[in-house]
Amino acid sequence: MPKINADRLLADLRHLRSIGAVDNGVVRPAFSEEDMEARRWLKAQYEAAGLEATIDGVGNVLGRSPNAGTALLIGSHSDTQPTGGWLDGALGVVYGLEVTRALREDPETRHLAVDAVSLQDEESRFFGCMGSRSLCGFFTPEMEADAQDKDGVLLSDALRDAGLRDAPRIQLDRERYLGFLEAHIEQGPHLEEDGLGIGVVTSIVGLGGLRLKFDGQQNHAGTTMMAIRKDASAALYALANAINEEFPKVAGERSVWTMGRAVIEPGAASIVPGYAELDLQYRDKSTEVLDAFEATVSRLIDEINARGGAKITSEPARVRVAPAHMDEGFRRHLAVAAQKNTGEMWTEMPSGAFHDAGVISEFMPCAMLFIPSIGGISHDFAEDSHDDDIALGCQVLADAAASILGE
Ligand SMILES: [Zn+2]
Repeated sequence: MPKINADRLLADLRHLRSIGAVDNGVVRPAFSEEDMEARRWLKAQYEAAGLEATIDGVGNVLGRSPNAGTALLIGSHSDTQPTGGWLDGALGVVYGLEVTRALREDPETRHLAVDAVSLQDEESRFFGCMGSRSLCGFFTPEMEADAQDKDGVLLSDALRDAGLRDAPRIQLDRERYLGFLEAHIEQGPHLEEDGLGIGVVTSIVGLGGLRLKFDGQQNHAGTTMMAIRKDASAALYALANAINEEFPKVAGERSVWTMGRAVIEPGAASIVPGYAELDLQYRDKSTEVLDAFEATVSRLIDEINARGGAKITSEPARVRVAPAHMDEGFRRHLAVAAQKNTGEMWTEMPSGAFHDAGVISEFMPCAMLFIPSIGGISHDFAEDSHDDDIALGCQVLADAAASILGE
């Protein structure tokens, strides 16, 4: 079986960290100079590992194995949040590189075909998971047309500045691949809390969101009697409170919901608010639970509207992201590899965060592996994992890749 080289793996991860390093973190958003430098460095590493490497027209770096036979694709994303951690997607990218090297160094697995990939803009500077969408043929001209970042930079200008405007875009050949494996830090506390080394992901949670609008009557806060008010904020508080009381009754074990944005107009202490908005977002691994959350909100709106006062309406705040189920067969291989390398110190678990595998699973079978995040912290300069856990995760991935391809 292949044996990964932990020193080489860690040295490469640390080199990647140095590109865009700030304090203990990394600033390497998609198409920044640092991001493109990291991609050129990765391309060179893929070539040194014997892969045929290309940076495509949206910035994906794909290293293709020259070996014959059906291939596995392994990787993640090397772009970061505006102030990101050093491991986030980088871990899975360097795992892909190291797995191809380890397989090539083992006479028993030398003939197996593994392609390595670093996907572009998973972190949504212009369009979340742009790279994986593009590889699967899901990145439409409409999505691209007015894509811009939060500072108003157009995607088309960013592509030009990165020197990618004329580079061909790669679309994956479905016939070539058995599927895609992505490793990632957990970005949550569960593995560390339970003292486990590996999480085999069962599904990636879906999410939905509603924009709730409250139409009232703006008026004087001193002279308008309570009984006749149409107070937009009172309706907002009532609905928000009811959501927090009613959602637990239909929630799954790891459901989460957030009301992260509220607007009250005109926003003055002496004025009964005439208008308000509240954004609600909810996530769960089950479509039924997401449906139940939406049904609950519409029942609560009807109940509060029936009392008079401000009128509440709701509209989708975003396109629903369906939960993505990881491939059963791949999961079995990952479980066997985890068992072999950790004994009982692994578990199956859903992913609460979204990942490229959530996009690619609509194109071909996918599976994911997690390693523990220290303190459960991610998307922050403090993000970190233990070296031993980093090495262990890569060995599990290499063993699983060999057994999937050897089957
Ligand atoms: Zn990530």
